[in-house]
Amino acid sequence: MLSYEKVDVAIIGGSGIYDPKIFSDSKEIKVYTPYGDTSDLITIGTVEGKKVAFLPRHGRRHRIPPHKINYRANLWALHELGAKWVISVSAVGSLRMDYKPGDFVVPDQFIDMTKGRQYTFFDGPVVAHVSMADPFCNSLRKVIIGAARDLGINTHPSGTYICIEGPRFSTRAESKVWKEVFKADVIGMTLVPEVNLACELQMCYATIAMVTDYDVFADIPVTAEEVTKVMAENTEKARKLLYEVIKRLPDKPEECSCCNSLKTALV
Ligand SMILES: [Zn+2]
Repeated sequence: MLSYEKVDVAIIGGSGIYDPKIFSDSKEIKVYTPYGDTSDLITIGTVEGKKVAFLPRHGRRHRIPPHKINYRANLWALHELGAKWVISVSAVGSLRMDYKPGDFVVPDQFIDMTKGRQYTFFDGPVVAHVSMADPFCNSLRKVIIGAARDLGINTHPSGTYICIEGPRFSTRAESKVWKEVFKADVIGMTLVPEVNLACELQMCYATIAMVTDYDVFADIPVTAEEVTKVMAENTEKARKLLYEVIKRLPDKPEECSCCNSLKTALV
């Protein structure tokens, strides 16, 4: 059996989020999983005395679309590396006018509208029904929210993330349903099943959702140029925020309630 160098924190994000400058040393490793290949090699390095693993969700050069990501391999690999904390970073559309492009959101709930993904490690013979009432780690969310505030990043401390299958965007009718009927706040394509798989592996998971634009309900035409500009600014802010969050994380998760339910979930 292979043994890997252990890490404290894992980051899953777009490839732009990775900043080689924040690592005092770094190397790339391949982690073998029973579920196949991860999205890419994993970069491991040290930040403020903590071992950190970085995995680009879509692979380098953004070659894997959201519905083709091997979420199980990704999460399994990070767990294999011993990550206690998983910080996910993703771009989202906004479903409300006061969550503006350039703002960050730290969701506390999600709605799953994906259609065909591998959602669980419990495919039998072991059966488990994991509680998802509070899907995110509250301790990790608090650290992110505090760090973002101190850095002056306009951040909303709660929100419901609706995850759609993609790769297409929503129709106008769908966008209105997500906003008016489902009362979701932001929309994206990658949170599920990342969050529930992390939970099954008992890792403390939270997501930094970076608002890129308003979803189609708003009927605000946006140019590719505007979106690119906001994304570049968001990436820069996210890098600063990640550094600050890693610095502030305790060595081990405190007694947090997230996903402790697995013991009672096994059937
Ligand atoms: Zn936790």
